[in-house]
Amino acid sequence: MYDIAVVGLGIAGASTLWRGAERGLRMVGFDLGTPPHALGSSHGRTRIVRRSAYEGQSYVEPARRSLRLWHELDAGAAQRVWFHTGLLLLGERDSPLLTSALDQAKEFDIAMDVVDLAESYPWLRNGTAGVLERNAGLVSPENAITAMLDRARALGAAVETECEITDIEPVDGSVRLRARDGVHHARKVVVATGAQETGVPLQLDQLVVPWFWGAQPLSFPPFIHELPDGRRFGGMPNLDADTPAKVMPMRPYPGETALADGVRDAEWYVRTHRSDLDPKAESAFQCLAPTTADGHFHLRPGERDVVHLAGLNGHGFKFGPVLGEAAVRMALEESVSWP
Ligand SMILES: Cc1cc2nc3c(=O)[nH]c(=O)nc-3n(C[C@H](O)[C@H](O)[C@H](O)COP(=O)(O)OP(=O)(O)OC[C@H]3O[C@@H](n4cnc5c(N)ncnc54)[C@H](O)[C@@H]3O)c2cc1C
Repeated sequence: MYDIAVVGLGIAGASTLWRGAERGLRMVGFDLGTPPHALGSSHGRTRIVRRSAYEGQSYVEPARRSLRLWHELDAGAAQRVWFHTGLLLLGERDSPLLTSALDQAKEFDIAMDVVDLAESYPWLRNGTAGVLERNAGLVSPENAITAMLDRARALGAAVETECEITDIEPVDGSVRLRARDGVHHARKVVVATGAQETGVPLQLDQLVVPWFWGAQPLSFPPFIHELPDGRRFGGMPNLDADTPAKVMPMRPYPGETALADGVRDAEWYVRTHRSDLDPKAESAFQCLAPTTADGHFHLRPGERDVVHLAGLNGHGFKFGPVLGEAAVRMALEESVSWP
């Protein structure tokens, strides 16, 4: 019998499978598609990974540990996972984004430099102040999930793709998982089904991701820009010449006009703040960000021998490796101090 079955192999489940396999546990993972894929929230070429944590101070140490694990994963991966680019934080000098980043840099020894925007980033229009977190970067979500699954398989884990789990039921001393091809058993189960989680109250926010041509590969660092009215925009460079750069409003859009509204706002931002990008978005997609009421990630025991890891809240990718570790610990009933 497996020690832990993981249902859902987006970043939360793939990390759990990987970290469990690294501990020598008998692991199996199920996904209704063949990960990495675009059916959940763990796709789209790039994710920002940073050590400063505007989520709060309790996220700084997990961000540090995660960064170490990203480097470890990258070192053994067939395709590049980690891109060391730094992260540019932009805003008014006294904006919450910049002040909290600089405070954390001092308190937690995070390498961060105040930058001369005109000199370093001449393509930036209407910039006010900026700091560069030197050791932040990007991960490729698709390559990250592939690398986690490859590593887990190499350590003996089973990965069942195109396999939807339709029922999870604790029975005596184990948990029964029902799939179309039959029934599977494990001592413990971690449910990491993202927007399809039914056991946890989640709001399904819609994020809009527009893409813009114009920039050379990796010609600017990923950035988060907090405007004086509090709105935030984020962006990431293209990793190669065949793909555009991403610039997105960092807020959810409700309703049927979400895509058009998000693209309009992103095009406004690019027109008014960037001279290096074509201000017309070449394409855009919508993606769900399952969100908890308190804004923190949901890692809790559910029914007997079942743990739920959900609500990664549109910013959980970077914490994937530590969330996976914590999910394994919780499944094994070891103490978990975060989240
Ligand atoms: C546009 C966008 C940009 C983001 N940018 C960043 C960023 O820069 N930095 C950052 O840290 N975070 C970022 N995030 C957040 C992060 O990417 C997501 O929070 C995270 O990927 C969610 O992962 P997940 O594993 O919880 O869910 P998902 O990726 O949705 O995975 C759930 C998986 O479960 C599978 N599944 C569902 N039901 C079943 C079933 N019954 N049986 C089997 N399998 C099932 C699905 O196929 C899917 O693979 C961003 C999110 C979005 C949407």
